[in-house]
Amino acid sequence: MSTKPTDGPRRTDRPLDEAGVVTAVRRAAQRGARIRPTGAAGRPPGPLARTDEQVVDASALTGVAAVGEERVVVRAGEAIADLCVELAAAGRALAVVPDAARATVGGAVGLGMYGGAPLQGSLSAQVESARLVDGRGVVRHVDGAELDAVRCGLGALGVLTALELRTVPLTRLAVHEHATRLEDVLSDDVLARHAWTEMDVLLPGGQAVVRWADPVDPDREPAPAAGFTTRAAGRAEEWGRKVTRLASTAWSSWPPPDRWTPGTEGPPHEVLPDPQPWDPDTAEWAIPRAALRGALRELGAATTARGWELRPVRVRLGAAETGWIHPAHGRETAWLRIRTRGAAQEPLRRLAGAVLEDASGRPHWTARHEWRPEDLAVAYPNWTDFQRVRDTYDPDRRFTDENLARLLGP
Ligand SMILES: Cc1cc2nc3c(=O)[nH]c(=O)nc-3n(C[C@H](O)[C@H](O)[C@H](O)COP(=O)(O)OP(=O)(O)OC[C@H]3O[C@@H](n4cnc5c(N)ncnc54)[C@H](O)[C@@H]3O)c2cc1C
Repeated sequence: MSTKPTDGPRRTDRPLDEAGVVTAVRRAAQRGARIRPTGAAGRPPGPLARTDEQVVDASALTGVAAVGEERVVVRAGEAIADLCVELAAAGRALAVVPDAARATVGGAVGLGMYGGAPLQGSLSAQVESARLVDGRGVVRHVDGAELDAVRCGLGALGVLTALELRTVPLTRLAVHEHATRLEDVLSDDVLARHAWTEMDVLLPGGQAVVRWADPVDPDREPAPAAGFTTRAAGRAEEWGRKVTRLASTAWSSWPPPDRWTPGTEGPPHEVLPDPQPWDPDTAEWAIPRAALRGALRELGAATTARGWELRPVRVRLGAAETGWIHPAHGRETAWLRIRTRGAAQEPLRRLAGAVLEDASGRPHWTARHEWRPEDLAVAYPNWTDFQRVRDTYDPDRRFTDENLARLLGP
């Protein structure tokens, strides 16, 4: 979404516990102030939490309350990376490990943050129940149907204080990276066949780098770390192949740097997150999985027709979501991330958005887009259910500001 730039919030509360959140919300109500919840400790909050009014920073609400056999109860300000380490100590893991390791659990659930596991939903799909302080400063335990409003609630319903999440057994993953052609990836359905996958594809040429990860046999001895010579030789060979295939492209950002040394193995939270910084200049869309081939073809054709160069497009798959305003709601999804270069490439970002919108795309909530409530009402079949829960949890619209009101309506 396009957000109005701000000088920063007039006031920030950083409560240490749920009672502190209740106090912060009630005091804001007395002053008539509006609040945006955030998990961003020590770094700029995401665009949906950027406000010049009041912020309730939940990042001090840390700690794992209980690790059960298949569930974990965690406070909402816990960083995903820290939660993964605690779970691993108990032989458990999150079903989906997003790239943003320092994001908080509350922020990731609030945003519906996805990973690259084609059969898994986002982190918000793993939520079994939640605790939240609503707009009147009342603590609610949320389960049942209303959870589908909270799963990707954009901080519009209240401040999450704790979440109960499903977990899976911890496995070691072996990761691989391979330069290939888009057509081969699509015909063999490569992206859907592994536990975790992603692809960077160059359009319109169709050169692709695919990365995938699968569990290693637990009875097998861990692979010895590849020695320097083996690693260097393997890498030189791979790069040689990439460069030969791609010699005709003028792209300075291609091929993308190798993400792993060949033979890398480890627990998901150590090998999967992408260490690259988040790029705010992206168009990022969730389209139905079945529309992927046509949408990539159309993106390549539309940009070539205008003589514009497209940077490598990142593609990941995810399962259908139940979250009422989650971009993958109700359909198996392909996520496309298209990086642009600031204002100069605004027309390219808009063109990519138009092509992906035509493919029944819905924008990712952190990326720049121009959707308004009337667009959401068409794209999300449970839009009125979401608004009903919003009316119940936040009848005074404590949890909004100018940016959010433009997106969700008053
Ligand atoms: C390096 C990097 C990689 C990334 N990769 C991905 C990716 O692969 N997939 C993806 O989907 N996104 C990705 N993102 C975007 C990411 O989803 C957001 O940056 C993430 O939500 C940030 O979490 P946060 O804790 O900082 O939350 P914030 O940015 O502070 O908040 C996110 C949303 O959740 C709400 N919120 C935050 N805390 C609470 C709370 N306690 N209660 C209620 N609402 C709350 C906010 O109001 C806001 O609407 C990436 C970001 C980075 C920095």
